[in-house]
Parts: sequence; structure tokens; C-alpha cells
Amino acid sequence: MQTVTLPSGETVPALGQGTWNIGDRRDRRAQEIAALQAGMDLGMTLLDTAEMYGDGNSENLVGEALAGRRDEAFLVSKVLPSNASRRGTVKACEDSLRRLRTDRLDLYLLHWRGNYPLEETLEAFAQLQRDGKIRHWGVSNFDPGDMAELVSLEAGGEVSTNQVLYNLTRRGIEFDLLPWCRDRGIPVMAYSPIEQGRLLRQPALRKVAERHGATPAQVALAWTWRQGGVIAIPKAGSAEHVRENHGALSLQLSAEDFAELDRAWPAPTRRQPLEMI
Ligand code: NDP
Repeated sequence: MQTVTLPSGETVPALGQGTWNIGDRRDRRAQEIAALQAGMDLGMTLLDTAEMYGDGNSENLVGEALAGRRDEAFLVSKVLPSNASRRGTVKACEDSLRRLRTDRLDLYLLHWRGNYPLEETLEAFAQLQRDGKIRHWGVSNFDPGDMAELVSLEAGGEVSTNQVLYNLTRRGIEFDLLPWCRDRGIPVMAYSPIEQGRLLRQPALRKVAERHGATPAQVALAWTWRQGGVIAIPKAGSAEHVRENHGALSLQLSAEDFAELDRAWPAPTRRQPLEMI
């Protein structure tokens, strides 16, 4: 498994598993648990969830999937901005831990910026670290201005990641945010790396995939890693999709492939507002 190094020096898999919309349907539960476990077996041990997803349903299902193998996982969850006060963050984390049936998160993210001062959320993160309830903290959906403000704060330099929307059709961060993070050794977690499935129908992607005997999903994922420092977290609801996505790790895209993809989805030439899903 290719890895990405966090600022702490710890390494995590470059391919993890997203869990938005997982755990909402009883009839899919067994299949979704099997999918996450199949991914774990393949080394996709970074699991991304959030208190927001299905109002805790996703965390509940992840907790069930991790029964007996919590220590194999690098577990990521997120606090909603509306909960991100000093006390609210601690309470939200404790609620997440209960749903996940664990005593600690490996990484805890502020889901997006809200109205509570960042200092308050950071104080809560520090408290949670002291109490052994989280190991690292980070942010999500922070644009370059937000990141600059964050690292200007006393504890802000300890940020472990910024999780943002990134795929072939959403390349805005390549202009500013991605190089900014790379210069500081802060990995980016690419969410919706296959654009929630919409990318898979695109002819340019299919053409490159056919050339390699690969699938469009594999090309879309392999593309996200071309510059390093990026962790992709596709969500897959079946073991079949998980195994297919894992196959992206052995796909070597060529300069010709990248050029062709660039023609279909050009790199940004100017600053763009950070997109969110
Ligand atoms: P993705 O780009 O990961 O796409 C998920 C969709 O693609 C699902 O419908 C899935 O279907 C389908 N899919 C996955 N693999 C394949 C495959 N090999 N072939 C065909 N279809 C496939 O979208 P998400 O928005 O879910 O993003 C991934 C994760 O990122 C989320 O689950 C969440 O953890 C995180 N996220 C974070 C956000 C934030 O604000 N921080 C915002 C959005 C997402 P199926 O289920 O049938 O496999």
C-alpha cells in the first residue's frame, strides 16, 4: 500500500474508505459492513466518517465493522461547525466515540468553518488530545485564507490535514491550496474522488481506462495521487467496488494519459473559490 506521511511522521494509506450515506438502510447493512471489512483486509485501513453522516448512522456502522479489529484502523471523524465550541467539541467527540465503540479517534476534523472562533475549537482539540480521546486533529473545507489564519494561531501549526473536494472535474485547489499544503508537509484528503460516481460516465476517462484494461474509477483514483501528499477516500457500498478501487494502486498512468486528461479537464490557471459538496 502506498502511504502518505502526516506532519507527525506517522504514515497512513494513500487509499482510504469514505462512509457518507453508509448505514442508512437496514437492507444494505451487511453488504456495507462486508465492503468496509474487505477494504480493511486489503490495507485500506483509513476510515473516514462524521457525526453528520446519517445523524450518527455511519459512525454506528463503522463501529460495527471494526468490532475486534479497531487497532488495525486509522479512524477519522468530524465535528459539525454548529457543535465546535469548546465544550460542544468535547461532547460531540465523546458521542462519536460511543457510536464508534472505541476510546479514541486517530484524527478529528472540523467539518467546515462555522461561527465559533477557531481558537475555541483548537482548545477543545488540545483537551481531547490530553485526555487521549483523539490522537491528531485537522480541518475540512478550509480555503487558503482559512489555512493561513489557522496556522497563524498558536496551536494552528499542528494541523494534520485539510480534507477537501478534489477530483478531475474539481481541480481548483491545484492553483493555490494544494501547493500551499505541500510546501508545509500537510497532506490533503481528497473527498468525492470519483465525483460521487458522476465521473465514471465521462468519455475521456473511459478512453484512458480502456487503454490500460482498467476501469474509469481506477483511473480517477490513480490520477489523484500523481503529485504525492494526497489521500483519496472513495466511498464504496460493495466489496466488489472496494476491490476495484484498490486496483487503482497498481495502475501506472503515463504522460500521454495525463495530457489527455488535462485536455478534457484543464488545470486551473487562476484562483477559484474552494468548491464544496
Ligand atoms: P465518491 O466520489 O467517493 O463516490 C461515491 C459513489 O461512487 C457511490 O455512489 C459509490 O457507489 C460509487 N462508487 C464507488 N466506487 C465505485 C466503483 N468502483 N465503480 C462504480 N461506482 C463506484 O463520493 P463521496 O461524496 O462519498 O466521497 C467520498 C467520501 O469523502 C465520503 O463518503 C465521505 O467520507 C467524504 N466526504 C467528505 C466531505 C467533507 O465535507 N469533508 C464531503 C463529501 C464527502 P456504491 O456505494 O454503490 O459503491
